[in-house]
Amino acid sequence: NTSTPKKLVVIYAPPGMPGHLFPAVELGKLLVVQGLEVTVVLGGEDSHGAGGSFLAGIEAASPSLSFHCLPRATLPSDVPAGSFEAQLFGLARASNPDLPDFLRSASPAPEALVIDFFCSSALDVGVELGIPTYFFHTTCIASVAFCLYQQVIHEQTALSFRDLGSDLLHVPGLPPIPADHLPAFILDRDSLSSKFFLGASERLCNSQGLIVNSCRSLEPRATDAIVSGLCTLPGRRTPPLYCIGPLIKPDEAGTQQRHECLAWLDGQPKASVVFLSFGSLGRFSAEQIKQMAAGLETSGQRFLWVVRRPTGDEHQPAGDLNTLFPEGFLDRTKERALVVMSWAPQQAVLAHGAVGGFVTHCGWNSVLEAVMPGVPMLAWPLYAEQHTNKVFLVEEMRLAVAMEGYAKEMVEGQEVVEKVRWLIESDDGRELRHRTQAAMRQAKEALDDGGESRTALLHLARGWENADHNGSIN
Ligand code: UDP
Repeated sequence: NTSTPKKLVVIYAPPGMPGHLFPAVELGKLLVVQGLEVTVVLGGEDSHGAGGSFLAGIEAASPSLSFHCLPRATLPSDVPAGSFEAQLFGLARASNPDLPDFLRSASPAPEALVIDFFCSSALDVGVELGIPTYFFHTTCIASVAFCLYQQVIHEQTALSFRDLGSDLLHVPGLPPIPADHLPAFILDRDSLSSKFFLGASERLCNSQGLIVNSCRSLEPRATDAIVSGLCTLPGRRTPPLYCIGPLIKPDEAGTQQRHECLAWLDGQPKASVVFLSFGSLGRFSAEQIKQMAAGLETSGQRFLWVVRRPTGDEHQPAGDLNTLFPEGFLDRTKERALVVMSWAPQQAVLAHGAVGGFVTHCGWNSVLEAVMPGVPMLAWPLYAEQHTNKVFLVEEMRLAVAMEGYAKEMVEGQEVVEKVRWLIESDDGRELRHRTQAAMRQAKEALDDGGESRTALLHLARGWENADHNGSIN
């Protein structure tokens, strides 16, 4: 009906986090297809400095969406400079005073505000203005279950997670989680980042809904535990859960100049190449890079490896790969390997039929990008919530096998040899591939018309379209 103005949904993402912005943009595009208008708001300061051109690229590729950057916020004095996560929460909180101006000036007035977990303090703004506010989790459903249940744990013990060592935490719907696998920034109960995290977890219960970039078929136990209220502190309300994923970035291969690694993959046999990539921030020590190189070489397998300069070596020229590896490594492996500096079009690589396995840091977008083409994984968690994602992936979803050396912060070359051979050549590796392909089929069904994720998205979109809230805000 062209006479009815479209309803506006505002999606609020944190700065400097591609892994949070990409899915927010994909969610926005789907809502536009459903007849809504969507503005993506990016908060605070881009802590990586490259925010301007990065955002311009995303804007150009997403013409159906509007974008708005809040003014650069000043880091509050109570936020320690060393804690990345505390800074994210702190910057979002510092941006709160700028949010009402934008929301009041938006036309039409927003029907819903959808906020990232790190922007959780914006829930207070939504409540104050009377705008129904939802969370959008760019992590797995299991992480949402843990966030909710954290309030229960907080009541049960006065100890920090750090004090619990490798004790197992039992959260409804999740496999046991060793306490020392939780994100480092919440290990110390008294740290500001822990307090921000707990505050964000509490706000989940005050929101209108929890939207998650995953689907029930991948995580049925966690979904059911949340929905039945088992993860929520008694006396608190569990908001509706909308599992609308997996949403992954579109294949950009057709829109940009094709990356050399895709042409290289064209020449490799089906399902033969091990792809190694560790998210937007993953980096290793020089010694770890040498161990990986030695292991990959000895394995005899084909591989495509995205490499960054080692930690602690900011002065090395970015493109000088030879200095990173054992002497002659690139030359000896050139018939069966390609090493790419810094960045590869990961989604397109994983979707390429030549890729037979993925060594991943377990960032949730990376996991989904592997599940959607049915690529089996070797889990090598590095930071943030990746260690818990590894537990969920290996113990619950059974879509990955761990590179055990992660726990000692050094994966030996010999483990690399054994695991990549196992993945590509063994019957058990093939079984892992079949399990991943079954998960892929179920995830695709969830996104099809009538599927669970599709239905959850339509439910949300219809609700916003038909809301009698009518765009009036306080
Ligand atoms: N990515 C990419 N090329 C790279 C490294 C990362 O395209 O060389 C993309 C990847 O496809 C994913 C995102 O960056 O969409 C990383 O998100 P994830 O949640 O996996 O990890 P994070 O970077 O947040 O730790």
